[in-house]
Amino acid sequence: MSLNGTYDPDNIFAKILRGDIPNATVFENDHILSFMDAFPQSKGHTLVIPKTPSRNLFDTDPGVLVKLISKTQIIANAVRQTFNPDGITITQFNGAPAGQTVFHLHFHIIPRYKDMALGSHAGGQMADFEDLKEQAAKIRHNLP
Ligand code: AMP
Repeated sequence: MSLNGTYDPDNIFAKILRGDIPNATVFENDHILSFMDAFPQSKGHTLVIPKTPSRNLFDTDPGVLVKLISKTQIIANAVRQTFNPDGITITQFNGAPAGQTVFHLHFHIIPRYKDMALGSHAGGQMADFEDLKEQAAKIRHNLP
C-alpha cells in the first residue's frame, strides 16, 4: 500500500486493539497501546501504537504524535533497563516501499546487542507467546 489510501479497520493492529487477537501487553492507557512484536528482530522488540486509527505519520493528528513519541521514549527507557542492550534502534515506516507491512501507525523499539545480527524485518520466526508475556512483564516492572 502506498502512502495514500484509506485506513483498513481489519488490519492486524486494529484487531489487536479490539481484542480480537491476543498481544503481550507492555503498557496501555486511553491513547496508547504497547506490546511485544510477535516476530521480534531482537530480544525485547517492542511496538508502540496510538489507539486512534491512522495508517502512518502523515495522516496522524500532531497531538496524537506528541503522546506517542513521548510514551515511546518512556517505554524505550524501560526496555533499556530490562535488557541492558548495547544500543536501541527506534524505527517507523511509511508505506510498503519503505518497509511498512501493517498499516496502523507504530514505532518499533528494537534493542541491539554487540556482535548479534538483527533478525529480518516482518519475516522472521514467530516468538513463543509465553516468552513474550514474560518479557512484557519485565519491561512493565521497569516503567515509572
Ligand atoms: P511494519 O513492517 O513496520 O509495518 O511492522 C509491523 C510489525 O508488526 C512487524 O515487526 C511484525 O513482526 C509485527 N507483527 C505482525 N503481526 C503481529 C502480531 N499479531 N502481534 C505483534 N506483532 C505483530
